[in-house]
Amino acid sequence: MTGDSNPGAPKLAPAPPPPADVALDLASGRSPGYRPHQGRALLEVAAFSGVVLLLGWLAYHFAGVLAAWATPVLPIDVDRKLGQASAGQLALMRTECSERATAYVKSITKPLLDAAGPLPFEFEFVVSKDEAVNAFALPGGFVTVNSGLLEAAESGEEVAGVLGHEIQHALLRHGTRRILRQLGGSLVLGLLTFGGEPTGISGLAGQLTSLSYDREQESEADVRGVDLLLRAGIDPRGLSAFFDRLSREGGMAPPVLLSTHPDPGDRSARIASLAAAGPFTKLPPPPRPVCDP
Ligand SMILES: [Zn+2]
Repeated sequence: MTGDSNPGAPKLAPAPPPPADVALDLASGRSPGYRPHQGRALLEVAAFSGVVLLLGWLAYHFAGVLAAWATPVLPIDVDRKLGQASAGQLALMRTECSERATAYVKSITKPLLDAAGPLPFEFEFVVSKDEAVNAFALPGGFVTVNSGLLEAAESGEEVAGVLGHEIQHALLRHGTRRILRQLGGSLVLGLLTFGGEPTGISGLAGQLTSLSYDREQESEADVRGVDLLLRAGIDPRGLSAFFDRLSREGGMAPPVLLSTHPDPGDRSARIASLAAAGPFTKLPPPPRPVCDP
């Protein structure tokens, strides 16, 4: 006999299709209804976060390593172009003091630059009419000295101390290294190949004006700046005296120079121990009034 083995039995209705989630489980070989334990889901989230953090950490350190590697390889012309573009943007926003103030700064920095040996670029100094006690160097040797710094300084040695530090920031290419680190390695190729491309440079130059150096760079500029003072025959105690006085007189609102140039911890003691290296040349104090003739 062929056919239905039990022709009298009622026909069963076809089974309804399983719910979509059960079908998915069956298709993927899991037991229907199996769901990962909540603890396991948390573990997966934690693992994912860990991977993201690790990638972030690697990117940060890779950028640092890359910046350290790339800066010496980059032509010095890159510093010059970056600094020039940034200085050009600053020039639009500030008032420069009289030529007398600039001539004074040049006379103070000449022995420092002579002592620094062959220079990779020519330094340019501008005295800006700005009460904030501050000075800063852009890549390529573009140095701004605020009139407030010259007003607060009581001797040429105090001015020279700050400017020796700023000159070293530029010579050590700290700004270029910092911007490479901040903006990441993708810029390296662009910087290596750009040939005066205006948008890229002005964008980078804009970043430079708001960029600060890290503590390691500040300490390096401090130590090398004092070394430069000694080689130029200038008393380095002017630097520590200036910073000590500013911090004593600063009170609740210390000058910006103190926050941008934190004490490496042993500045005064280190300088005091080096002061025996004299005799030193006496430098003239800043002109009064500083800004106007
Ligand atoms: Zn500095």
